[in-house]
Amino acid sequence: MRDKCKKCLDGEMVLKIEDEEFQYRGKPLVVPIPYHECNSCGFDIVSYELSVQCDAIVKEAKEQIKSSAELKKMYTDDQQR
Ligand SMILES: [Zn+2]
Repeated sequence: MRDKCKKCLDGEMVLKIEDEEFQYRGKPLVVPIPYHECNSCGFDIVSYELSVQCDAIVKEAKEQIKSSAELKKMYTDDQQR
């Protein structure tokens, strides 16, 4: 079940993933950052839960453990559970 928007109380919060570019050790590092956006008014939030998950993913990206595509898959897999 999706969360209702806290702002317009009408729309639903939809998970979006956007590539953010960071500079890490002098190199650009692209990390997919998840957030929720209202499908009605466009209000967006990053929940605490997502920001924690995001920190873990930034760490993995820095250590080059997973590619951007694999990181994105982590989010989508999580949604299906
Ligand atoms: Zn809204």
